[in-house]
Amino acid sequence: MGQISDRVKSLSASATFAMMQKSNELSAQGVDVVNMSVGEPDFNTPDYVKKAAIEAVEQNYSKYSPVPGYMWLRKACSDKLKRENGLDYTPAQIVVSTGAKQALCNVVMTVVNPGDEVLLPSPCWVSYPEMVKLAGGVPVVIKAGIDQDFKVTAAQIEAAITPRTKALMICSPSNPTGSVYSREELAEIAQVLAKYPDVFVISDEIYEHINFIGGHQSLAQFPQLKDQIAVINGVSKAYAMTGWRIGFMAGPEWLAKACGKLQGQYTSGTCSVAQKAAQVAFDGPQDDVESMRKVFNRRRDLIVSLAKEIPGFEVNNPQGAFYLFPKCDSYYGKSYEGKVIESSEDLAMFLLEVAHVAAVGGTAFGSPECIRFSYATSEERIVEAFRRMKEALSKLA
Ligand code: PMP
Ligand code: GLU
Repeated sequence: MGQISDRVKSLSASATFAMMQKSNELSAQGVDVVNMSVGEPDFNTPDYVKKAAIEAVEQNYSKYSPVPGYMWLRKACSDKLKRENGLDYTPAQIVVSTGAKQALCNVVMTVVNPGDEVLLPSPCWVSYPEMVKLAGGVPVVIKAGIDQDFKVTAAQIEAAITPRTKALMICSPSNPTGSVYSREELAEIAQVLAKYPDVFVISDEIYEHINFIGGHQSLAQFPQLKDQIAVINGVSKAYAMTGWRIGFMAGPEWLAKACGKLQGQYTSGTCSVAQKAAQVAFDGPQDDVESMRKVFNRRRDLIVSLAKEIPGFEVNNPQGAFYLFPKCDSYYGKSYEGKVIESSEDLAMFLLEVAHVAAVGGTAFGSPECIRFSYATSEERIVEAFRRMKEALSKLA
């Protein structure tokens, strides 16, 4: 323990994975847990993608891959950005990494110096502040409550900018709230950011395809931001490929070169077989993406209606991703069998232990008043989870 660096000591462990682990441990003991903790599609990877990977193994895709990714995959990413987002990025502006997580971390490590401030519209994904801390930066939270659908305004962003601001990390559709910024909202944000060309924008679009209100809107569509933005995306969510570990960043060429340099010393090019699978995912038919989106949409409707029936839960109407982030602080101060629920984490533990439903406390997302449920599970299990939770929560007094 004494040998652990200050850098790693100061990191929080990933709350999402910690809860997934707890849920798995309980399941391994034979308990029937409804796992709504970790955010990953419950679907299988589409067959045509799996087939491409099998062929890649047979064709000996077993060597080191180029550090920024095979050219054909970077071309597929470039084509995807053009076709689906109307964005122009050459393969030289793209770096393929081990998940969107590494793509994000590469960019943070590349642009943030120790002491630099990074703006985090919050609630935000658990890993953003920790990546910033790893780079020696200072996370600066810009809070948006449920009253503003968990979305920050352009004015809030502008008010948070100081001479030390180096970057902004923004995610739409959002984990953990499911909120989606409209084109108009993004246009206002872009107008502000364009006034500060030294503030680098990191736009996490990993939930692009899980959107219930139509076309995806990217901050990168605004030409005035072109030189100060990186788009992050990948295959984990849209193609149910979380375990394949493929993500990418598209940005200015100087950034791509620097991310490549970093990655070349850290992880090398990512898994060659998974790159073949990702190419086929991007280039192939997109019907599975659409059918999964429709299923998530139905589940969204279901979970929102069930959550509204839970006394003390306040919910927004998420327009994307597969999370619900109810405000639940009316339960704090109540107790069960002598144990007081003091926080969102206590509530999550109570739900796990008493209702056998796994969720993630809101503190790690910057919102101690909320709790996150991933609805990447069947309608039947969602109904069961809310039946159990309703009963368990009614025992709190
Ligand atoms: N960004 C957000 C907002 C996420 O929720 C996740 C979770 N998987 C990621 C990035 C990372 O995705 P992956 O590394 O699996 O591509
Ligand atoms: N992004 C997912 C989540 O938030 C997967 C776990 C993780 O990478 O944090 O649950």
